[in-house]
Amino acid sequence: MSEVEQKELAERDQALEQIAARLGVRAERGRRFAELTSLRVGGAIDWVISPETEEQAAAIVHELDQAGIGWRPLGSGSNVLADDHDHHYVVLSLSEMKGEVRIEDDRVSVSAGYSLPRLCIDVARAGLSGIEGLGGIPGTVGGALWMNAGAFGHEIGTVTETVRVARAGKVTEVPGDSIEWNYRRTSFREGELLLGATLRLTPDEPDSIKERMDDVKSRRLATQPHGARSAGCFFKNPPASTSGTGKIIDEMGMKGQRRGSAIVSPVHANFIVTEGENARAEDALSLAEEIRERVKLEQGIELEYEVELWRSNPEPPSEKQEQ
Ligand SMILES: Cc1cc2nc3c(=O)[nH]c(=O)nc-3n(C[C@H](O)[C@H](O)[C@H](O)COP(=O)(O)OP(=O)(O)OC[C@H]3O[C@@H](n4cnc5c(N)ncnc54)[C@H](O)[C@@H]3O)c2cc1C
Repeated sequence: MSEVEQKELAERDQALEQIAARLGVRAERGRRFAELTSLRVGGAIDWVISPETEEQAAAIVHELDQAGIGWRPLGSGSNVLADDHDHHYVVLSLSEMKGEVRIEDDRVSVSAGYSLPRLCIDVARAGLSGIEGLGGIPGTVGGALWMNAGAFGHEIGTVTETVRVARAGKVTEVPGDSIEWNYRRTSFREGELLLGATLRLTPDEPDSIKERMDDVKSRRLATQPHGARSAGCFFKNPPASTSGTGKIIDEMGMKGQRRGSAIVSPVHANFIVTEGENARAEDALSLAEEIRERVKLEQGIELEYEVELWRSNPEPPSEKQEQ
């Protein structure tokens, strides 16, 4: 790193410490993506900031933007593969921003840092149906909204009435139907912070909802690796193919294939799992690229990543957007 870059980072650090102290938000150094993501790989992060309330989160990103400090939101890190290098930006960790779930009739208001599996249990107990298919998806509500998480016939976008986002330092509500909810993709912009949502669900018998949740759970247990370090499905299913990506990779005989610390799961071929204390993102990425190349060569299909690849790019999206 050049002297100029070092000086810029030192100035940024000072500004950031002042902002965090003023807003009373915890700011830590010395964390690694390997601790913060479910794949348990990835390099050092300059700063991790952990707001606890929606108001605090809205205020802090506004101040960071004003100061020109790049940041990225992170929920539970269950859909992120961050590379092994040093990441010179701020990670806004939302897992402390849990808030409280408020249920009024068929409406449920929840903060972005709340656990999605926990929410599924809460609403099932309250006799509200519509997200029981999502019960086995690890992660936060914010991460699920960001990528329109879905499973077993349910997607979060279809039941989202409003989303609270951070705009100019304030919590602002936007209607769910103004957002495009696509397959594992939404129209939220890079650098936009989601603070919470109100879901509209359908009243049903708690016992029937629980039965459906149990069914989904046993189907997951039968078909997916559990207790393994993964990020769920690595690739999206190809739109033009009748086969799912897992089946395509399995039929190429790639289950169990290994690159260093990364393995194609022997249970589900669209899961890459990592092993060992010093597992490397590079191994997972090169294994993923090998899969993509073979699928392209042998099937003529261009696989698209479902997992997000986070590069240690000094210019993260929230800065780019400002330009
Ligand atoms: C075993 C396993 C099974 C899985 N099964 C499924 C499945 O069936 N269906 C499915 O859809 N996914 C599945 N996933 C993937 C993952 O769990 C989901 O994508 C989940 O919704 C991600 O939530 P997260 O909090 O971990 O998000 P993260 O991984 O932390 O972040 C994902 C993206 O969301 C952004 N983000 C997170 N929070 C916010 C916020 N508050 N505001 C703005 N942006 C934000 C991040 O910047 C990042 O771009 C699985 C993962 C695992 C490990």
